[in-house]
Amino acid sequence: MSASSRTDHVQIAKVIGIPINLHFSWLIIFGLIVWTLSTGYFPAQQPDLPASSYWAKGLVASLLFFVSILLHELGHAVIALRYGLRTRSITLFIFGGVAQLDKDPRDGRAEFWMAAAGPLVSLSLAGLFYASAFLPFVGPSAAAVATYLALINLVLALFNLVPAFPMDGGRLLRGALWGSLGKARATRIASGAGTFFAYFLIVAGVFSLIRGDSLSGVWYILIGWFIKDASAASYQQVRLDEALRGVTVRDAMVEAVGTIPSSGSVAEAAREYFMRTGYGSYPVTRGDAVVGLLCLKDVLRLSPEEREATSVQGAMRPLTSALVTEPEAPLPQAIARMAQAGTARLLVMQEGRLLGLLTMNGVIRRLKAREDLGG
Ligand SMILES: [Zn+2]
Repeated sequence: MSASSRTDHVQIAKVIGIPINLHFSWLIIFGLIVWTLSTGYFPAQQPDLPASSYWAKGLVASLLFFVSILLHELGHAVIALRYGLRTRSITLFIFGGVAQLDKDPRDGRAEFWMAAAGPLVSLSLAGLFYASAFLPFVGPSAAAVATYLALINLVLALFNLVPAFPMDGGRLLRGALWGSLGKARATRIASGAGTFFAYFLIVAGVFSLIRGDSLSGVWYILIGWFIKDASAASYQQVRLDEALRGVTVRDAMVEAVGTIPSSGSVAEAAREYFMRTGYGSYPVTRGDAVVGLLCLKDVLRLSPEEREATSVQGAMRPLTSALVTEPEAPLPQAIARMAQAGTARLLVMQEGRLLGLLTMNGVIRRLKAREDLGG
């Protein structure tokens, strides 16, 4: 599932080296659960107690519920570590918890056991809480809290086991199919199931709304929407990986690009190159050597007067390794470099010789052609 950006959460702890984050939206669901437990669930279980007793139980039960979610996510993280995958962070947010992995598991077996670990933790917790309600020293209030926690952990395990990618059950499904069908087809099937389940939740939510149960209705719709987006995004990512597999920079670069001499003014370069061709950037040369890259962006940053007064040499991005890629480099790696360099283009060079230019547009055109031709 997608995780939060950096600014909207706080780190509350670090467990086995993994930062535990609280997303601000978690406060909404935490408040909602404390409230429904304290004013609905516990009063219905044990009537005629003082309100303070209900609120105390509501608060304790909610906190332990989120500890349970955290343990579920840590279950995923511990098994991931056994398969050599680091978990970057665990974040609690409005729809529960999400463990963010550094990268995808390498095979279906790893995927399967990593996905199974969370629901197994929740099922074990359900059993433990259920059993603890019957211990002789546990009073009726504590027993009510324990019974609730047994129930909610069971629900958590079962809900997560629905075979809808990217939920745990969907990952189990993908892991099981991966070996025989390959990752791409397994992901397509699992995320198709995810989309189906998402629409099922949305429709169920609409029916709840019609029946007048607006809180559950809105809730189902929101979760359905979240799963729909997440399953579509995971599938897109896998398709991109598949489409780029084995493709090198040479396959996607533009050959025989024009170059601009470093000695002229930016105004000349604008008139004679950028305006004539509409290209977004040119390699800059001094003699036979490539010395930098001049982008349209760099030209536009200058006023017309400045363009007359500034040399290409003064306005260009000087040649650094961040701007250069080799023709045999894997394309995904070059795309990541492009994003880092913030130029959306790289010079393709071999042994100091300019072979071509790799541009984001070129990459996209190339991908589209591959897809259209089914290659
Ligand atoms: Zn899980």
